[in-house]
Amino acid sequence: MSDLLEKQRSLFVEALKDNYKACVFDIDGTLTDTTANAIPPALLDKLSLLSKNGYCALCTGRRFGRAYEILENLLEERPELKRNWFFICENGSIGYRYDIKNDQYIELYRIDYPYGEDHRKRLIDELSKALKGVMKQIHVAEVALAVSSKSRWQGSKDIVKQECDEMVARTIPVLKKMDTEKLLVVCNAGNTINILHKDGNKDYGVKSLYNFLVQQKVMKNHNQIVCIGDQGQPGGNDEAFLSGSCGTSFTVGNGHPLNEIPLPVFDNKGNIVFGPNATLNLISRLQFV
Ligand SMILES: [Mg+2]
Repeated sequence: MSDLLEKQRSLFVEALKDNYKACVFDIDGTLTDTTANAIPPALLDKLSLLSKNGYCALCTGRRFGRAYEILENLLEERPELKRNWFFICENGSIGYRYDIKNDQYIELYRIDYPYGEDHRKRLIDELSKALKGVMKQIHVAEVALAVSSKSRWQGSKDIVKQECDEMVARTIPVLKKMDTEKLLVVCNAGNTINILHKDGNKDYGVKSLYNFLVQQKVMKNHNQIVCIGDQGQPGGNDEAFLSGSCGTSFTVGNGHPLNEIPLPVFDNKGNIVFGPNATLNLISRLQFV
């Protein structure tokens, strides 16, 4: 075992001894398989239990409606859990909290598209041409653009990943031309790419959630938030989210080749595990108080 992995394993064992108050989950590749759109039943049961007494958030490239649908059955059946669930959407550029009085989710914060509507339309035109053959569609969400890969929902994981890598490579020159003030970034979610304001990443979302929970006197230390994602590698859409700048970070997919953080998930036998099974394994063993 490499020195880095050895160190991560001992940090992982230490992390299991701490107490946590909130858990923030990426969706695709973390709660669901990247080619599926449902949380495995055992993991969903665990999320239900966790959010009964603790605070949970989804932190995703998806827009609110597409994020909410992943928990819809649970939250419609058990509406009392809604107050404990937050949604950090569009790769962190917009967040939502539940407003108990009005029985609806409302904005917690937003980082808007940095240019005007004309600019956004021109960018969509340029991307439609540049991404021909590898994209399915470009969706304008509340503040970000989301481009799904051509084979999403039907292709193999490898093909979907290749298409996303190709979409990112082709988007960069378009942004070079059009993003004159360098205010936009492109992020790779593994099955979709997002184009959004550079300040609106998932880490910003977790910090906004943390500040809200501090205001509510729920917690005092950002390490009490567990962050779980699968794209922690440089350029991945969880890179900032899992950097450890806010929260205790774990990856159930890619980590960082040089950094200890995010920590991989080790099962009881010391093997690294991946995907929704690893997420279930991890949250079953962490202590939430
Ligand atoms: Mg993911």
